[in-house]
Amino acid sequence: MSYFEPVIMSSAIHIYISPDTAQQELIKHTLNIIFFNKGLSCVFIPHKDDAIITIGYSDQNDFVISENFHQLLSQNVFSHHQQLSNNGNIVNKFGGTDYISTISYLVNSFQEYYDKAPDQYGRFKYTNSLQHHLNSVENNTVQQVIDYLFSSHPKLQGLKTTDRKSRVFLTHDIDSVYGAVKEDGRYALDKLKPFEILRLIYNATLGTPDWLNMDKIMKVEAEYGFKSTFYWLLVKNKQNSDYDFHSPAITKAFDRVRQSGGENGIHKSVGAGSFSEEIKTFGTKPQGNRFHFLKFTLPEGYDLIEENGILLDTSLGFSPVFGLRNSFGQPFRPFSLAKNRPYKFVEVPQILMDRTFYNLNMPVSEAKKKFFDFVEKNKYNCVFTLNFHNNFFTGLKYHGYSQLYHDILAGLKELGIEGIMQSEIIEEYNHN
Ligand SMILES: [Zn+2]
Repeated sequence: MSYFEPVIMSSAIHIYISPDTAQQELIKHTLNIIFFNKGLSCVFIPHKDDAIITIGYSDQNDFVISENFHQLLSQNVFSHHQQLSNNGNIVNKFGGTDYISTISYLVNSFQEYYDKAPDQYGRFKYTNSLQHHLNSVENNTVQQVIDYLFSSHPKLQGLKTTDRKSRVFLTHDIDSVYGAVKEDGRYALDKLKPFEILRLIYNATLGTPDWLNMDKIMKVEAEYGFKSTFYWLLVKNKQNSDYDFHSPAITKAFDRVRQSGGENGIHKSVGAGSFSEEIKTFGTKPQGNRFHFLKFTLPEGYDLIEENGILLDTSLGFSPVFGLRNSFGQPFRPFSLAKNRPYKFVEVPQILMDRTFYNLNMPVSEAKKKFFDFVEKNKYNCVFTLNFHNNFFTGLKYHGYSQLYHDILAGLKELGIEGIMQSEIIEEYNHN
């Protein structure tokens, strides 16, 4: 038996970067992200004559880079007020938009570098962000720029591109396992639900505490054909967890996740604890991390992830709002300016966290609509990273959230959106 398969000619796009251009590694990194996004690849060649695309400061190039952007970077000026024009772009000296540098700036969260006005927890403040300034946090701006370039730039519009179908990355931060009596109990007391109080106390003392519910969460996910990743705190104290990671109950829950095809990761504590200590407590090398409270600063946070051999981090979200902290919905390797190369891990932007809506007092119906509006606009090239805490599933203090989770999974399934796991993201996006 013989068969014929047509040969698809897919060769890398040849790109020449003018030698007088600074930050060439950063430019290459951004171009790799852009071409990867469209299922293409590029190579950088030393001779201009062999290039399809030329890049540099002069207006003779296909893409004109802003020299000012590089000068400001070299002076450690990162603020969006100084780096970007009023409409959020980096502009070259000829007045044109420098799309490549704009993407470099956004994707790598340069606006957060050496932040001087953090919030009470030491985090970059949403209200100081470009996204707040432009009211654009729900926009996948980088994707829009990439799509625009491939549909309109004379050197790109003829290329045959491939978009990846968006997928969902389900995650759970496990902050508290024993808080149900206090928090749900308080709610039950206020709402005069004596039987609920008795049940909570019984479960906490003789049965299974209501928030030790990883099995319940995984069962919901299995109903819709999904699996998820759980992030565990290794430090028990007032700011961190209320459970001992090595206690039999937690060990059992942790193992059940693995046995059920789920994955586990580290939820780096806040406070003085070091990463390496916590990795030791974790026992095996964790593949992924999310910082508790999303508390990290840049570039130190990214340095720590790399130094500790973590392959995936999913802390890049704004706690107070739904949306994209770096205006990009695709996992990527951030670029290290200090090392002049990409970091060796994948950052996965977190777009949705239950507590955001809870703190905003937003009805869950509105939260659901917000999420599916975003999904509708981003059917391709996104990984929707959701963070639902285990304590939001009990139906008392956080009532409505268990149903919201059901509705989200049902809706995603109906749209044919598949799940992606920590290990699969690392496999697919840990390159360039
Ligand atoms: Zn946490």
